[in-house]
This record gives sequence, C-alpha cells and structure tokens, in this order.
Amino acid sequence: MLSEDPKVLELVDEIDKRITASVKHLLETKHLYQSTTVEYADLLDDLPDDAGVGLSQGLQKAVLSAVNGDWAPIDRADHRPRLGDGPPPGIQFETPDVKLFCSICKRVEAFNSVSGEDFSCRGYPQISFEQSRGAVQVFALSFQCQSCKGVPEVFLVRRHGLKLTQSGRSPIEHVEVHPAVPKSLHKWFRSAIVAYQSGHTLAGIFLLRTLIEQWVREITQQPDLQADRVLEAYMGLLPPDFKARFPSLSSLYGDLSDDLHRAIGSSDLFESAEADIIKHFEARRVFDL
Ligand SMILES: [Zn+2]
Repeated sequence: MLSEDPKVLELVDEIDKRITASVKHLLETKHLYQSTTVEYADLLDDLPDDAGVGLSQGLQKAVLSAVNGDWAPIDRADHRPRLGDGPPPGIQFETPDVKLFCSICKRVEAFNSVSGEDFSCRGYPQISFEQSRGAVQVFALSFQCQSCKGVPEVFLVRRHGLKLTQSGRSPIEHVEVHPAVPKSLHKWFRSAIVAYQSGHTLAGIFLLRTLIEQWVREITQQPDLQADRVLEAYMGLLPPDFKARFPSLSSLYGDLSDDLHRAIGSSDLFESAEADIIKHFEARRVFDL
C-alpha cells in the first residue's frame, strides 16, 4: 500500500504525471520498438532536508517503493483502476490524449484515450513480474480520432523498470511518402522506413535497393536483364544535365549493394539514400520526365 504521508503522495502524484507525459512522448514521437525513459530523480534531489536526514531517507524509500511496484493506467473519467476491486497500486497514471496521423482524415488529429489496461495479468491484486532491472508490465492502450470517431488505434507499451517501449501497434503506423515518389514505389518506400524505424536498418537498405531496381525495370521495361545492365539502360535515358546535377541511382544502387554484401546496415547510408532517392524523383519532376 502507498504511504499516506502527504509529501509522498505529492511526489507520487508528480511521478504519475511524468509517466503520462512519457507515454504521450513515446506514442507521438517514437516508432515500433523505440523507447523512452521516465525521469524523476530530480524530484528526490529537491526533497527538503530541514526535517532531518532520517525522514528524508524515509520519504525516498516510500517513493522508490511506489515507483518500483506495479503501475496502473487509469480511466480519466472516474480515476479508479479499470480492473478488479483490490487495493490501488502506488502509481496510477492517466492514459494521455495523443496527436496521431489519422488514415481516414488524412492528417494529424487529436486522439482521445478510450481505454488503458495492464495486460500482463488479469485484475488486482497483481502478480509482480520482475527482471534484473525492475518490474515488467505490458499495457494495452487504445485511442480514437476525435474528428472521424473511427475504429480506435491500439498500442502495446512494455514497461521494464523506468523504460517504456512501443512494442506493438494495430493498425501499423502510417508512413507518409514524399509526393515526388511514384505511387508504384510507395509500398517499397513505406516498408523501408518502417524497417529502419524499427531498428532493422539492413532490411531497410535492402528495400531501398529493391525500390531502385523495380523502378528502373518499370521505366526500361526490362524485367529479365541483370540489374546492372538495366541501371545502365535507365541512366542512358536521362539527359546529360540531369546526370551531372542530381544523385545517380546507379551509384546509389552500388553503395546499397556494398552495404548488403558486408551485412553492415549503416544508418547514415540509409538516411542519405532516402534523401537522394527523393531528390532524384523531385529532379525528374523539374525535368518533366
Ligand atoms: Zn480521423
């Protein structure tokens, strides 16, 4: 049970708010398998010591005990845990409202929290699951677009100690593709970005290389020739001025292949290749190709 000391309750209330803010940050700015950490050490540094070191340490212990215990997402409407009738856990954080891209409205919209529950186990009293660096829980959080009131988007958020990881999402995150990129290539471009954002850079590089190869085959109408021959044929179709001024898909294909053969998965290469591919297609528009 949580200490009833008002100072402890005040600190825990502040930590609740920071968890809510961290969940919002995680869902709005991070991608699948990326993480954020809840920071609260500065709150303990600010504890008053005029009441004596012993009491200050007692406060710290009570706060740490709450933070290290189970956390419960709560329904903002009634401020009670959503499951069971057992004692409330020390930490109860409001599930935040978030801004997400709505695939129906085709823009970023405000999504309200619909439900938030701990899916690691059923109801309270909870069983605590621990690993070396702290408690492990998995929260399922759902949000509905306030503009179209469509089907809620559902996220899984894994908590390990103070670390929160976006570990699942339904439906998959929308990836906006630059409008200069031809529609026939969007699936490769989107998959490359999702792979990269999920930490699979080598797979992302493979998908960007696939995009280039499929594009030059589409333009040259050469489905069977070897890739280097098709690239050569494609480059031959471009005006000399274009080739002199804009990134060459042929050399980019070579750089991506080299990374794949060595199984490197360079983030720098992925990002520069993504930018160069967009530049190439923007240039095609300028040249009216
Ligand atoms: Zn919407």
